[in-house]
Amino acid sequence: MDNQSFIPPHRTLMGPGPSDVSERVLKAMAKPTIGHLDPVFIQMMDDTKKLLQYAFQTENELTFAVSAPGMAGMECCFANLVEPNEKVIICKNGFFGERMKENVERFGGIPIVIDDEWGTKVDLNKIEEALKANPDTKIVASVHAETSTGALSDPESITKLAHDYGCLSIVDTVTGLAGVPLMVDDWKIDAIYSGTQKCLSASPGLSPISFSKASMEKIKNRKSKVKSWFLDLNLIMSYWEGEGGRSYHHTAPINSLYGLHEALIILKEEGLENSWFRHKENHILLKDGLESMGINFLVNKEDRLPQLNAIYIPDGVNDLESRQRLLNEFNLEIGAGLGVLAGKVWRIGLMGQSSNKKNIEYCLNSLKKVI
Ligand SMILES: *Cc1c(COP(=O)(O)O)cnc(C)c1O
Repeated sequence: MDNQSFIPPHRTLMGPGPSDVSERVLKAMAKPTIGHLDPVFIQMMDDTKKLLQYAFQTENELTFAVSAPGMAGMECCFANLVEPNEKVIICKNGFFGERMKENVERFGGIPIVIDDEWGTKVDLNKIEEALKANPDTKIVASVHAETSTGALSDPESITKLAHDYGCLSIVDTVTGLAGVPLMVDDWKIDAIYSGTQKCLSASPGLSPISFSKASMEKIKNRKSKVKSWFLDLNLIMSYWEGEGGRSYHHTAPINSLYGLHEALIILKEEGLENSWFRHKENHILLKDGLESMGINFLVNKEDRLPQLNAIYIPDGVNDLESRQRLLNEFNLEIGAGLGVLAGKVWRIGLMGQSSNKKNIEYCLNSLKKVI
C-alpha cells in the first residue's frame, strides 16, 4: 500500500534481541530533535556517559555509545586495538567468536582460534595453552554472554590470564550488560562493547563501549593508522573530549540517544544489582515452567545465562511452523537456533524489560498451545 504510515503490530519480544522497549523510552525518542552540537544536547551526552560508566561499573574516560549497532562496537575494538601481524587469541564458543576472527583477519592480525563446544563456557586451560604456545600474542578476545547458545563465560578470569601473559582483554558483553554481573574496573577489562537492544531495552542501533587507559595508550601510539575512518577512536575522542569545543565528526543519532539516556535512567532507578537479580529470578521461573513441560536446556545449569534460554525443541515438533504460529497467533517472538544449533534449539530471551512475570506466563501458555 502506497502512502500509508507504517503501523507495527504489538509483539512480545522474547527472542535474542531486540527486547521490549518501554513506553518511557519510546516517548523519550519522540521528543523534538535538536542540534548535536547544541549545549543542551552535549549536556545530555555527558550525562549519558556517566550513566554508561555506572552500567559498566567503570571510571574509564573513553566510555560512550558508538553510533551503530553492537557489531560496530565489535569492529571498533578490533579496528583500534589490532595492528597488522599481531596475534589475537579468539575464544570461540558460539556464533560471535567466528565474527571476531573475521574482524582480526580484516584488520591484518593473525587470529588464533580456540574452539569450545557450542553451549559450553570458554575453557581457561585452553587459553593458557595457547598463550604458552604463542608468547607473542597481544590480545585475548572472548564473549561474556554467548547469545547463540545461552552460555555464560568468565571474563574476569580470562582477563587475569590475558594480563599474566602481557595481553589486553577484549570482551563482548552485548547481551551481558545489565543482565548478569559485570565489573569492568574490578575485572580490569581493557576493551568492552555492548548493544542497546538486549538487556538495556533501548532501540537497536547504538553500541556502548569502554576502553581502559592501557587500551587508550595503545591506540594513541599505533604504528599504523586505524583502517576504518568512522571507527578511529583517535578522531572520535576529539569529538567527545574537546573541552567546550566539540568538533564535528559525524551527526549523532540524536533521538536514539534520547532513548538510550532514558533506558539508562530506568536502569539506575532500578539499581544494577537489582536488575541482575531480577534477570536471575525470572530465569528460574521460566526454567521451572519449561521443565514441568518436559523441555530441556542446552547449557549446563551452572553456566546458563538467565537472559537467554536455549532449549531443545521437543521431539516431533516442527521448528518453523511453531515459531510462525507463536508470531501470527500470539504476537510472540522467540528465537531460532543459529549455526550448528539451527533446527535443534529455540532461544527464549528474558532481556531487560522483557524479563517480567507476565511475559513468562504468556510464553509458557502460548508454547503449551503450540506444541
Ligand atoms: C546481538 C549481539 C551482537 C551484535 O549486535 P547487533 O546490535 O545485532 O549488531 C554481538 N555479540 C553478541 C554476543 C550479541 O548477542
